[in-house]
Amino acid sequence: MGVKVCKFGGTSMASGNVILSAAKIVKADTERRYVVVSAPGKRFSGDIKVTDLLYKCADEIEAGNLAAFQETFGKIRVRFTNIEAEIGKDLRISEGLDEAEKEIVNGAGRDYCASRGEFLAAKIMAAVLDVPFVDATEFVRFNKDGILDQEKTFELGEKVLSKYPRAVIPGFYGLGADGKVKTFSRGGGDISGSIVARSVMASLYENWTDVSGFYACDPRIIQSPKWIPELTYQELRELSYMGANVLHSESIFPVRSAGIPIRICNTFRPEDKGTYIVKTESRGVRSYVVTGVAGKKDFTSITIEKSFMNEEVGYVRRVLDVIGRRGISFEHLPSSVDTMSLIIENQFLKNGVLDEVIAEIAEVATPDRLIVHDDIALVATVGHGMARNVGISARLFKALSNAGINVNMIDQGSNELSIIVGIRNDDYEACLRATYNEFFN
Ligand code: ASP
Repeated sequence: MGVKVCKFGGTSMASGNVILSAAKIVKADTERRYVVVSAPGKRFSGDIKVTDLLYKCADEIEAGNLAAFQETFGKIRVRFTNIEAEIGKDLRISEGLDEAEKEIVNGAGRDYCASRGEFLAAKIMAAVLDVPFVDATEFVRFNKDGILDQEKTFELGEKVLSKYPRAVIPGFYGLGADGKVKTFSRGGGDISGSIVARSVMASLYENWTDVSGFYACDPRIIQSPKWIPELTYQELRELSYMGANVLHSESIFPVRSAGIPIRICNTFRPEDKGTYIVKTESRGVRSYVVTGVAGKKDFTSITIEKSFMNEEVGYVRRVLDVIGRRGISFEHLPSSVDTMSLIIENQFLKNGVLDEVIAEIAEVATPDRLIVHDDIALVATVGHGMARNVGISARLFKALSNAGINVNMIDQGSNELSIIVGIRNDDYEACLRATYNEFFN
């Protein structure tokens, strides 16, 4: 018999009634033995996620504004008390809330504060399912640089979870090297689910959310885009890195080496098949060459022109050192004989950093010309099928030219898994539409 790990996201934990639906899903399959939960998220558009309220609490405590903190914490109290009332069982939630409030006021720290949404949500789910609660701090470990210590985490995870045939575990956090609670980046509950799946060597990691899987393009831009039945880990990585945000882009790492498949499923439509994320393409599932199209706005391109750049040993290294020293990473590095471009997210170049970087590049690399555009969007066309089919890039660029879109940059990795184009922010929506229509309509 296989073991399934179910992770329920914020919308699946948003109210008592939805939590009861999630519990019904778990009970419907005896293989669903480990459950990882997020903090209660939005019940309707305009609602506030519990995690956002908790970050507000942390800000207020840091600012020494106790009255504001108490008011915000009061809202969290109401959310959880309503959940308890809807479930109709005494879950002793007020004790948990009192304890959290006391610790936060006593200086437990920002990450501890942010983690309490998942902690309390997991306590609730454990009581509803009548399954033991296992705290993530017992096995999720970060190293001193704040990065997940995978080896230690899997080793401890296996040891701790093997004692429990079934368990409910809070997502989003673990223990830092200083022995204090430490959170992942936002949406990190997906990583926790993946860690649990890897620790118990699950046969499937089910990620329950509010959509029925991945779609071939952003539904905010393309009306009713095609549903994707299957993605490989690599395709998922490319698409989620480029903005398809159904799943946290780092959540595949723990399961990938073990080849554990992920299924994205919809708590509100549990009968839907969802999208499977697998190691290699399955036969007979795919009728498509391109799997999906995704993109992101707001990048800066810094293009450096220098005659005989190719003959100067160490040229690229000198340029990369300028950003490396500032801890800035670049997304792409397209180059030609006498030019190279750095594509960097705008957020890293704010508050005068761009000017500093440009001045230093001018000094260390003495370029003939430096051209900067700070309104670049990137659009990735992704799919294993591209490597096997002739003429895909010709179709893509013809579609873009027919739509009157000027392409500033092209980047295709040698694995032929994706073609990335750089365009102006203003052309972003049109570029997604033209690409989607070419391959999916
Ligand atoms: N609750 C956290 C967030 O809102 C983590 C998660 O939901 O995965 O980012």
